[in-house]
Amino acid sequence: AKRAGRNGVSVYSAGLTDQLLRHMELEVSLRAALPRQEFHLVYQPQVEAATGRICSVEALLRWHHPTRGLVPPTEFIPLAEESDLIDHIGQWVLRTACVQAAIWSRDGRPVRVTVNLSPRQFRQPGLARMILAVLDQTGLAPQLLEVEITEGAVMESTEAARQTLQELQQHGVGIALDDFGTGYSSLAYLTRMPIHNLKIDRCFVNGLMDGGENEAIVRAVLAMAHSLGLRVTAEGVETLDQARTLAALACDLLQGYYFSRPVAAAHVPSLLDRHWAL
Ligand code: C2E
Ligand code: CA
Ligand code: CA
Ligand code: CA
Repeated sequence: AKRAGRNGVSVYSAGLTDQLLRHMELEVSLRAALPRQEFHLVYQPQVEAATGRICSVEALLRWHHPTRGLVPPTEFIPLAEESDLIDHIGQWVLRTACVQAAIWSRDGRPVRVTVNLSPRQFRQPGLARMILAVLDQTGLAPQLLEVEITEGAVMESTEAARQTLQELQQHGVGIALDDFGTGYSSLAYLTRMPIHNLKIDRCFVNGLMDGGENEAIVRAVLAMAHSLGLRVTAEGVETLDQARTLAALACDLLQGYYFSRPVAAAHVPSLLDRHWAL
């Protein structure tokens, strides 16, 4: 608890201690989370604007902490990213998502699954080999897997990272650029990297209906991406109005609460039967 100090300095340091304690405590329990099986995945549909049908689902990680309850990934992923923990968690996510997608496929309901890769994972030298091994072990067709990497990770990346993507692409794995528009302004990497899909960050979708700037940005991104032969996914679509506007702008894929929140694997097959009229 924060104590009111006599001066600003002690208040500040008490606050810092709290934060540090929470941080350390969380890290200790995060290390135990995998063996204790406290993680699970949820899946959020990505709907093809032209058909109104689901073409893929994004796997999103959930951590159920024994006393705190659900800890948001925005809190624990950056923590895991500070150490090799992210490699273990990331591998678990990949394996679990591929096992699940292979089950859907064998049940006659094939749907592509997309998996988030953190920047640190992306820098791992053996990444392509690891991903291909998981595909092999789970029997999932590479075409049914897409990986998402962030703009920042791609910008910082080396020639080795480019080769990783190249190798994945050659095997048929899709590559999406996540949170597009929130990072750097240089677009040169779009032509250098084998990227198939741009995901426009939800902050642009959010302001879409206010007219003006955001619509201009979305239009420009779509024109640029399409001229490079990339598909575009809009994130954070929350209303029918937004979905219709994006469909009218020829955005390829739509993802957001309007269609579905992320759901447990068991709910996915019934969502595949749905059709959204836009
Ligand atoms: P992200 O990759 O950009 O994932 C999309 C986030 O937006 C998800 O939050 C999703 O639940 C949320 N979202 C989807 N539709 C809407 C909408 O219509 N409105 C709003 N307000 N939000 C929407 P979530 O699951 O909390 O994940 C947050 C971030 O944590 C992800 O952002 C991603 O960066 C990271 N993350 C989640 N799972 C993993 C994982 O397995 N590995 C890694 N490396 N990162 C992950
Ligand atoms: Ca993502
Ligand atoms: Ca995103
Ligand atoms: Ca994000």
